[in-house]
Amino acid sequence: MITSIWELFNKEDLYECYQCARCTGSCPAAMVLDDTYGPRETLLRCLNLGQEAVVTDQRIWYCTTCNVCEDRCPQEINIPELLTAIFNIAAQRGNLPEKIKFGVELVAKTGRTLVVSDKVNRDRQKLGLPALDPLDVDAIEGILKKTGLNELIEFS
Ligand code: SF4
Ligand code: SF4
Repeated sequence: MITSIWELFNKEDLYECYQCARCTGSCPAAMVLDDTYGPRETLLRCLNLGQEAVVTDQRIWYCTTCNVCEDRCPQEINIPELLTAIFNIAAQRGNLPEKIKFGVELVAKTGRTLVVSDKVNRDRQKLGLPALDPLDVDAIEGILKKTGLNELIEFS
C-alpha cells in the first residue's frame, strides 16, 4: 500500500516553484474558495506543513483536475499529478466526499458516470440516437479490486 504522496510525486519538482502564483490565479477551484486555497497554496502546505495537513483538507476535492495550473506554470510543475497523489492518500485516510463515493459506485454498477433513466433514452430517441444498453462491468470490478477502491467504499 502507498503511504506517502512522495512515492507518487517527485518532491524535488516542487523546489522549482518561484511563487509567481499564476497557477492559483488561473485555478477555477481557487476562484470559488477563499483566498487561502489554490494550487500554489497546496504546494506550499505540502512542503511546509507536511503530508497530513493536505490529505486531511476537504478542500482538495474542489480540484477539477482541469490541468490549467500546469498549463500556466512557467516552471512546468505538474500540480495535477501532485493532487492525484494527494487524492490517493486522502482516500485511504477516509477523506473521500460522498459525491465521489456515489460516482465510483455508479461506475462500478453501470459502467457509466450518469444515471441512464427512461427520460435520457427518450431524449436520445428524439435526437435520432440509439438507446443506451446496460454495459458489461466485469472489467470495472477487476479494476476496483486491483486498485483497492472496493475496500475504501462501502457499496450499497
Ligand atoms: S487542476 Fe485543480 S488545482 Fe489545477 S487549476 Fe485545475 S482545479 Fe485548480
Ligand atoms: S505557476 Fe508554477 S512557479 Fe508559479 S506559483 Fe504556481 S507552481 Fe509555482
